[in-house]
Amino acid sequence: MDAIAAAQALSEIGYLLRQNPKEVYRARAFSAASWTLALERPNLDALSKDNKLTSIEGVGEGIAKVLAGLIETGQSTYLERLRAENGQPARDDESTIDLGAYQGDLHSHTDWSDGRATMLEMARGAKALGYKYLGVTDHSPRIKVVNGLDAERLLAQSREREQVEKEVEGLALLQGIEVDILEDGALDLPDAVLELLDVVIASPHVKLRQEPSAMTERMLRAVSNPNVDVIGHPTGRRPGSREGATYDFEKVFREAARHGVALEIDCDPARMDLSPEHARLALELGCTFAIDADAHAPGEFAYVPMGAWMARRAGIPMDRILNFRPLEALTMIAK
Ligand SMILES: [Zn+2]
Ligand SMILES: [Zn+2]
Repeated sequence: MDAIAAAQALSEIGYLLRQNPKEVYRARAFSAASWTLALERPNLDALSKDNKLTSIEGVGEGIAKVLAGLIETGQSTYLERLRAENGQPARDDESTIDLGAYQGDLHSHTDWSDGRATMLEMARGAKALGYKYLGVTDHSPRIKVVNGLDAERLLAQSREREQVEKEVEGLALLQGIEVDILEDGALDLPDAVLELLDVVIASPHVKLRQEPSAMTERMLRAVSNPNVDVIGHPTGRRPGSREGATYDFEKVFREAARHGVALEIDCDPARMDLSPEHARLALELGCTFAIDADAHAPGEFAYVPMGAWMARRAGIPMDRILNFRPLEALTMIAK
C-alpha cells in the first residue's frame, strides 16, 4: 500500500474519532501519523515486512496495528467500524482522485499575516511539490491578532510577490486575500480592492453561532459578491472542539453554484470543512470545489494528500475541482 493511501485512511480515522470529544487526543495522534506519512512517504510494505512500522514518527503500537491491517488487506477493520458507528458506511459511488494531476493550491498564508514562513519559503515548498500555482491568501484587517492586510499592505505584498515569482521559476503566485465575512455578509475589504486581486477567498471566522436565518442571509450576501471566488471552510467548524455555523446549506450552495463561487474543502485536520456529507450535497446542487491545505508553513501542503479522501467520499469528480485545472483555465484570474 502506498503511503498516501494509508495517510488518507489514518486521516479519515482521525476525522471520525474527532466526532467524539472524548477521543480528541487519539484523533490528533492519528492525524499526526497521517501527516508524517503524507510528508515522508515511507515504504510501508518494506517497513511492515521488517516489523518496523513503529520506527515511523508518531506511530505507536496501536496505529502500527491499524497500518499493518491496511498494508495486508488494503482495508482497515477499525476504520470500517468507526464508519459504521458514525452512520457513514462504505459506499460504492466514491470518486477517484488522482493527486498526481494536482496543479496547485489556492489558499495559503505567509508571515505577512499568521503564517510561519516567508512567501519565498512557501513558494519553494509549492514548487518542490510540482505545483504550477499557489494562491497567497493572507488574512484581512478585521482579525487584528493575525496582523491582517489592508489595501496598503496588500500593495507592498504585491511587490514581494513579483520578486518571489522571479526567484521561483515556473510557479505562478496568485495574489489574493482570505477576506472575513462580516456579521451582515459584507466583506472586510472594499470591492475596489478585492477586484484587483487574483483570488478572493471569503471565509466565516467569527460569530459562527448566529441564528441560522441571519447566518443564511450573511452567507448568501457573501456568495453573491462578484469578487468572491471561493468560500473558505464554509462552516468554520473545528471537529471535536467547535461546532460550525448552521444555515440553510441548500439555499447557500445553490446560490454559490449559480454565481460560480467554489466551495472549499479545507484539508487542515483541525477543520476538515466542508464535511464529506455537506460536500456531497453541494455536488448535487452543481457546485465546484477547491481542495486546499490552508497551509501556514510549507510542511502543511501535505494536508491535501491527507484530506483528499473527503472529496473521494463525497463522490466529487476531478473536473469539478479547481485545483486540477491548469492556471489558464481558472476563470477567477481574469475576473
Ligand atoms: Zn480561515
Ligand atoms: Zn486560511
